[in-house]
Amino acid sequence: MSACPVAAEPTVDRAPLPVLGNDVRVPLVTGGEVTYAALDYAASAPALRRVWDDVAAYAPYYGSVHRGAGYLSQLSTDLFENSRAEIAAFLGCRADDQVVLTRSTTDSLNLLAAVLPQGTRVFVFESEHHAALLPWDRRADVAVTYLDAPRSPRQAVEILEHALADREPYGPALVCVTGASNVTGELWPVRELTAAAHAHGARIVVDAAQLAPHHPVDLADLDADWIAFSGHKLYAPFGAGVLAGRPDWLRDAEPYLAGGGASRAVTRGAGGGVDVEWHDSAARHEAGSPNVIGAYAIASACKALSEAGFDRLVERERQLIATVREGLAAVPGVRVLSLFGDDAPRVGVLSFVVDGWNSSHFAAALSAEYGIGVRDGLFCAHPLVRTLLGGDRDASGECGAPDGGSLNAVRVSFGAGTPDEH
Ligand code: PLP
Repeated sequence: MSACPVAAEPTVDRAPLPVLGNDVRVPLVTGGEVTYAALDYAASAPALRRVWDDVAAYAPYYGSVHRGAGYLSQLSTDLFENSRAEIAAFLGCRADDQVVLTRSTTDSLNLLAAVLPQGTRVFVFESEHHAALLPWDRRADVAVTYLDAPRSPRQAVEILEHALADREPYGPALVCVTGASNVTGELWPVRELTAAAHAHGARIVVDAAQLAPHHPVDLADLDADWIAFSGHKLYAPFGAGVLAGRPDWLRDAEPYLAGGGASRAVTRGAGGGVDVEWHDSAARHEAGSPNVIGAYAIASACKALSEAGFDRLVERERQLIATVREGLAAVPGVRVLSLFGDDAPRVGVLSFVVDGWNSSHFAAALSAEYGIGVRDGLFCAHPLVRTLLGGDRDASGECGAPDGGSLNAVRVSFGAGTPDEH
């Protein structure tokens, strides 16, 4: 493979935003080589050229954040804090929302789990990505209710309302829901779920790992309480993520990590220990030297996406999905996975199985014979994929599809740099 991810110009004229990596040539088992087709944006999106250029322009002037009087430190601090403001604008944050810079969506949701008030009841659909499914139950003082995967957006709201109505009408509660599924690409009824949560006195966090890169998000307009996403799925692969939203639970909890940056003042206490005054701002949960390049990369991507306008991106992904669906429909034995039905609106993510094919072999063949990179497996959403494949929910270990078919699925996903043709 002649990997040349840095220097070459993107070759996709019709892509709304220039993305790196479109020139990589890969060898085929049948001989010769072909330009690689990245159809795995849901896992990680290659960097936007704009992000790469911004990061490269800043990198030589990297300095410590919030810690120095020198020029580079001040430059880096400004860059970091301006990035936070840029991300807040991109997400449509309210004036008092906090934007905490984390490592990823997983980190963001674990952070939120760590700051939940004691005794919080958490409601989460079984269909969530593991990053949204698993963090809550680790708290001994938090009770988690797992909700069955709904078969329509309306049913999602009904299931949630039913569960919330069943809880004791006091005490803190949190609903965690995806904005767009990483398996089916289907958009979830976030606005309606938010209204249902609030009507029952619960708060809601939106896992926007797949939503934010493909769809405009406006936290204030949605009225959701928190949102989490990852830079590397938003064309900014530099190890940063975001948790944004209501400040109170964040401010009232112990810091996620203890250390410098999170603490305003530390003194030796009367009993021989130390007394700590923690920051009230987002810095409370950002102990240690923060990932300023990662934050700047996300801000750069947010700016590029906003300037490009989501309309073009959304429309192009819709067309790509329609083309792939049409192509798959012509292949005997292909089944596209869906919770909400064929007509459900979705982002540029689609999973399928092919009768008689092991999905891993299918994905390997696409790579080796056609230079197409897709993902196969259960996509860190085991309960959902098992439900969609019709396997035994209670089976431990591998899912047993009743027809003896594939135990996992193939996923294709698109983004701004996906070629129109291959
Ligand atoms: N949520 C969803 C819907 C995802 O698709 C992913 C990643 O695939 C995550 C959460 C976790 O993201 P990360 O691995 O960047 O923490």
